[in-house]
Amino acid sequence: MTNLVHDADMIAASADDWRERDLAVLWHPCTQMREHPNTLPLVPIERGEGAWLIGRDGRRYLDAVSSWWTNLFGHAEPRIARAIANQAMQLEQVILAGFSHAPAVELAEQLLAIAPTQAGREPLTKVFYADNGSAGVEVALKMAFHWFHNRGEIKRTKFIALENGYHGETIGALSVGDIPLYRRVYAPLLCEAMFAPSPDAYMARPGETAADCAERAASGLEAMLQQHAGEVCALILEPLVQCAGGMRMHDPAYLRRARALCDTHGVFMIADEIAVGFGRTGTLFACEQAGVQPDLLCLSKGLTGGFLPLAAVLATQAIYDGFLDDSRERAFLHSHSYTGNPLACAAALASLAIFRDDDVLARNRVTAARMAELAAPFAALPHVAEIRQTGMILAIELARDGNRHTPFDPALRIGLLAYRAALERGVVLRPLGDMLYWMPPYCIDNAQLQLLAQVTAEVIEEVTACV
Ligand SMILES: *Cc1c(COP(=O)(O)O)cnc(C)c1O
Repeated sequence: MTNLVHDADMIAASADDWRERDLAVLWHPCTQMREHPNTLPLVPIERGEGAWLIGRDGRRYLDAVSSWWTNLFGHAEPRIARAIANQAMQLEQVILAGFSHAPAVELAEQLLAIAPTQAGREPLTKVFYADNGSAGVEVALKMAFHWFHNRGEIKRTKFIALENGYHGETIGALSVGDIPLYRRVYAPLLCEAMFAPSPDAYMARPGETAADCAERAASGLEAMLQQHAGEVCALILEPLVQCAGGMRMHDPAYLRRARALCDTHGVFMIADEIAVGFGRTGTLFACEQAGVQPDLLCLSKGLTGGFLPLAAVLATQAIYDGFLDDSRERAFLHSHSYTGNPLACAAALASLAIFRDDDVLARNRVTAARMAELAAPFAALPHVAEIRQTGMILAIELARDGNRHTPFDPALRIGLLAYRAALERGVVLRPLGDMLYWMPPYCIDNAQLQLLAQVTAEVIEEVTACV
């Protein structure tokens, strides 16, 4: 008994020690470091197991945000872990210019075989690798621009993106993002982009349906394309869910209209499925729900099951052919040192095998229905403005009163309060503004979902009690 207590003390002390050592040397992403350690507790993690993260102090945390939307089948999933270990013993890395390896080839073959298709459209036939989502977006933007440049259409220098969209943090990716918090300071550094109205159904006007909203946004896009005919090389968007923009969801009809408008105006459609790909929205890819195929498809995050950084940009044959020439300048000379890293490709292949072996999408339909059931009672709470869901993403929008047009005073930092209240109860929620969401690993079971719902209810009550 005494020993046990002693051990627990030792573990807690070692967690404190790690916090101190961390803050002495690390600069954390997306963090005002001033808030550590007092406002924000830093949580040293020792290991992961399924949907759980296990802290150095022995506490367990349910990872309801899939570790920044990367994890698919749980932490330390043995099949993926083994695939990486086996690959590491054979070939850990090789330059991909002039050289090739089986994992890169097999992964490209498999991705192209499962990529979205559209009747009457030439399929996606080529894969270009990068090593994170933002880099993948850069690749797609540069390809679109360069393709037109190769054809002598040098006036096509602009991109159209959507209001409230997000595509990453590097300068090019940030240029097509519309989230002021990330963008504002860097505005003088960014390249030219135009923002078309978001089809976000939460912004529907009184009496409008989600489909009306999509139609109205599409008309805005059409006007923009007409006004800038010949200046635009691509439209980039996040199909079905604008994740970083607050899990805002739209009607698939928008994607069909956008696809048709891109065709009419001879502009490429870039689908950024970095967050929504690999089953998050209920289908393997979000574009499937609209029956559209983009010209360029960006994948990352869940691509490796959440184990290693990797991105893939899938392109049409027509885009690829536009770079074939005797001159090097017409070639796509973009590269990253770790392009097509064998370990990351092996992880992705293992992840795709799990989709086949475990009938993941069917199981997710059951899990998503259970999520809906468990969240339904929140709709009656006075501070819940909306509950919305697309597949394995469920969002709970909080507001000062049930009326969606009266947000909380940002100074209250409802999101931060909710984050801390959930963490104290052993659940990782990471609200975006006043919006709480569930985006759990697909392996989450019924007991874990019940814990998640219970804690969410307590958190909503606690953080809205004082306003
Ligand atoms: C996360 C994200 C990115 C950026 O990916 P990183 O790997 O974080 O650079 C791009 N687009 C979308 C839609 C994302 O959610």
